[in-house]
Amino acid sequence: MSRLFIFTSIIISSTLIFGFLSLKDNPRTDANKSYTQLSDSTMNKSESDMKTKIVKSDEEWKKELTPEQYYVLRQKGTEPAFTGEYYHLNEDGIYTCAACGNELFSSDTKYESGSGWPSYWAPVDEGKVKLIEDHSLGMVRTEVVCGRCGGHLGHVFDDGPKPTGKRYCINSAALEFKKK
Ligand SMILES: [Zn+2]
Repeated sequence: MSRLFIFTSIIISSTLIFGFLSLKDNPRTDANKSYTQLSDSTMNKSESDMKTKIVKSDEEWKKELTPEQYYVLRQKGTEPAFTGEYYHLNEDGIYTCAACGNELFSSDTKYESGSGWPSYWAPVDEGKVKLIEDHSLGMVRTEVVCGRCGGHLGHVFDDGPKPTGKRYCINSAALEFKKK
């Protein structure tokens, strides 16, 4: 009986490990798809939120991202003002996380802030981003990170337009635009 149990455990854990490894080896869009399928069929919402978190090593991110994306998303860098490719973009669509594809901001909430960075008055959904108190550079600011992969996106300030009064000041390099 106990032998059978051990045998079954080994089978189950090797299946899990193999599954995990093959997820890791797939390109990131395929991995996302697998996570979604898992969460749709077998888990409730809070469990699926946990499972859809993406954790990768610095080495893995370095391979997948451009140097600019890596600098912003993983090293909390800031692109120079007025240089990002999405600052002036005014098309209808969704801005996703450049690292993991998480849908973060809609063109519906994008506005011209004059700051030099793409600015939004709200994320697509509160749960899509995570806010963290940031004491770097001798200031107290609120950092905005991707809710799924933890990548640094930018900061949020209280000088935005109605209806929220928020200004999500986001680096173009952290985003990828998907036209509607
Ligand atoms: Zn992300």
